[in-house]
Amino acid sequence: MALDSGEPNIFMTEAMAMAEEALAAGEVPVGCVFVRGQNIIAKARNRTNELRNATRHAELEAIDEILSDPILTPPGSGRYPLSDTTLYVTVEPCIMCASALRQMGIKEVFYGCTNDRFGGCGGVVGVNDSIEHPSHPLYRATGGYSREEAILILRRFYITENFNAPTPKSKANRVLKTEILSR
Ligand SMILES: [Zn+2]
Repeated sequence: MALDSGEPNIFMTEAMAMAEEALAAGEVPVGCVFVRGQNIIAKARNRTNELRNATRHAELEAIDEILSDPILTPPGSGRYPLSDTTLYVTVEPCIMCASALRQMGIKEVFYGCTNDRFGGCGGVVGVNDSIEHPSHPLYRATGGYSREEAILILRRFYITENFNAPTPKSKANRVLKTEILSR
């Protein structure tokens, strides 16, 4: 499906709502929806803190839901159970998730902002389309949808966190940056 990145997209709006839910729960605010036909078949958000499990990214949470549902994934489904499924996610999938998506044969991915640290769809490594594999099909991943919102919600999270700082700074001194540089 062709998307205009300048237009609000109903599925990205739903993914952003999941990111808001993650933020409210004290998780890194990333949310996603999986779409088959024109229907959302699963939606999820990060649960890494709640479950104390670094693999519990939004995408893998939703994939678990899809694979464990016999209606969404009937017994005897082929090797690529996501071949007719599109992912909308607020942040570029990380290398782990990008690889899982390819191994499940995802049809296509649309995302909000680039993942500069661990991006697996070109932000750091192009697991989706630049790494040779004898069988797992390539998939297209396109960013820029609701990009500003995706960045701002991450900033809202990180401004309240203080990772590994030797001397904690006062949160009151931190200012939320709202300016976003265009790429
Ligand atoms: Zn991930």
